[in-house]
Amino acid sequence: MTFPTYDEFCARVAVVRTQIAAACASAGRDPAEVGLLAVTKNHPPAAAEYAARLGLRAVGENRVQEGVEKRAQVAAPLEWELIGHLQSNKARLAATHFDRVQSVDSVKLVNHLGRAAGELGNPLRILLQVNAGRDPAKFGAELEDAPALLDAALAQPHLRVEGLMTIAPLSDDPDVARRTFVTLRELRDRLAAQTGAPLRELSMGMSGDLAAAVAAGSTLVRIGTALYGTRD
Ligand SMILES: *Cc1c(COP(=O)(O)O)cnc(C)c1O
Repeated sequence: MTFPTYDEFCARVAVVRTQIAAACASAGRDPAEVGLLAVTKNHPPAAAEYAARLGLRAVGENRVQEGVEKRAQVAAPLEWELIGHLQSNKARLAATHFDRVQSVDSVKLVNHLGRAAGELGNPLRILLQVNAGRDPAKFGAELEDAPALLDAALAQPHLRVEGLMTIAPLSDDPDVARRTFVTLRELRDRLAAQTGAPLRELSMGMSGDLAAAVAAGSTLVRIGTALYGTRD
């Protein structure tokens, strides 16, 4: 699949929305509860311009530098979300240029982001990334460390913790992704009950596993390949 024209992009978004609607129908969910984040990493600024033109709310980038450079080239109103691993030494850059950081996975990073947001005088919206599939190849806090990570984030006056994010392990067995997503939702339910923080956003599901994610309660699927084609 190659980089699409705008019309092709619109057709691909329609296909993804149909998949979301079908997964919602089987799960008895309202499709309006599931947002679509267009993942523009490794694609030209036109990818973000397409998303804005179609009225999508936000795009996702996985590298700070690439996101900062691309955002500077796109005038259209869009929110930019960081979905890739963030090192503490880039926390200030990320807090300056991104509307939300989904990949917050350590207390150290929470502290750096909290300080940066305070100095910038701008509250920063975040999600906590949890390695709910216990995948050695993935970033994210371990399940056992999630409560302490949440406590640290809630203690930061300039951070707004909106929910949790996970990436399912790559596997030929679709049940691996399904279990990962159910684990994240159950963790969210438990943490929300314990702390009183609603943690409404459950960012889970990508091009290959969005149906399982929606069935498990995803409120935001992050879709790259199905919209823009394969990345080099
Ligand atoms: C690249 C990426 C995606 C999109 O993956 P596709 O399989 O291309 O849809 C989603 N989430 C994260 C964190 C990513 O890095």
